[in-house]
Amino acid sequence: MNIPASIPPERSDHTWQPLLLPTRIVPARYTTRPEWSSDGESMWMRLSKFSLLNRLSLHALVVLVAVRSSDEVPHAGVDLRRADRFVLTRLASLLEIAQVAALDGFCLPCSHPALAWAATELRYCPGCLEQGFHAAWFQWQFIERCPVHGSRLRGGCHKCDAAIPYTLDGNLAKHPLSCAHCGTSWVPGLNRPAGRCEPFRGGLARIFKRWQIHVAAAMMPVADIPFASPARVTRRLTPQRGIGIEIRHAMPGPQHPAFEPALRSTATLTCGTH
Ligand SMILES: [Zn+2]
Ligand SMILES: [Zn+2]
Repeated sequence: MNIPASIPPERSDHTWQPLLLPTRIVPARYTTRPEWSSDGESMWMRLSKFSLLNRLSLHALVVLVAVRSSDEVPHAGVDLRRADRFVLTRLASLLEIAQVAALDGFCLPCSHPALAWAATELRYCPGCLEQGFHAAWFQWQFIERCPVHGSRLRGGCHKCDAAIPYTLDGNLAKHPLSCAHCGTSWVPGLNRPAGRCEPFRGGLARIFKRWQIHVAAAMMPVADIPFASPARVTRRLTPQRGIGIEIRHAMPGPQHPAFEPALRSTATLTCGTH
């Protein structure tokens, strides 16, 4: 059968329209999942999730969020205990959270001798970390246990015990939420196809919020103490035997319907000399 080739009419006259490409620079967009995070989550955890989703270099991460340029990044990384090394507006915009939530992700707004009480290595509750949660106030060394799981806060990789610096550093960029030494994933749920984190809600979220408020209420007045005079500060902040910051968390009684059995005792936390 002789079938004549048919040429679409719009192509028969060879009048191809040129393809015009936009020449303006389109700002890069990053992937962020604020719905994966719980209220009060630390900046270490928020930036780790952001790093996992975007796989940026340390240079790129620091340029995005830190005050200093990447050329000035100290070898030890940028301290995640204090907020003043970061631009809160950039953090909030990048992570799609409120600025107050970004500030809650740090132990203190700025440098202060009281930061000596906050660990420079990650302190975490194994149960919380497995679910992708870490609070900045876990870093205070007078906090001994997770109020939800009852677990003693610990440091180091749970598999190989390697130290986990509490900084924005090369490990956070190259190995977010996993061990740079043994490769163990600390949040297994994120390694699955379509893996994600479920934030704490309801009663658990309220427990963490209450503790966050209590710790902040105890530490912010301390942080407000001026430290221009080292001798004065040394007197005020050097922990003495039997004297320290005490945080009492008023727990409802066992008869309270929303009360978790693991939380029935009154928690008394005394600041030590760690
Ligand atoms: Zn926990
Ligand atoms: Zn390890």
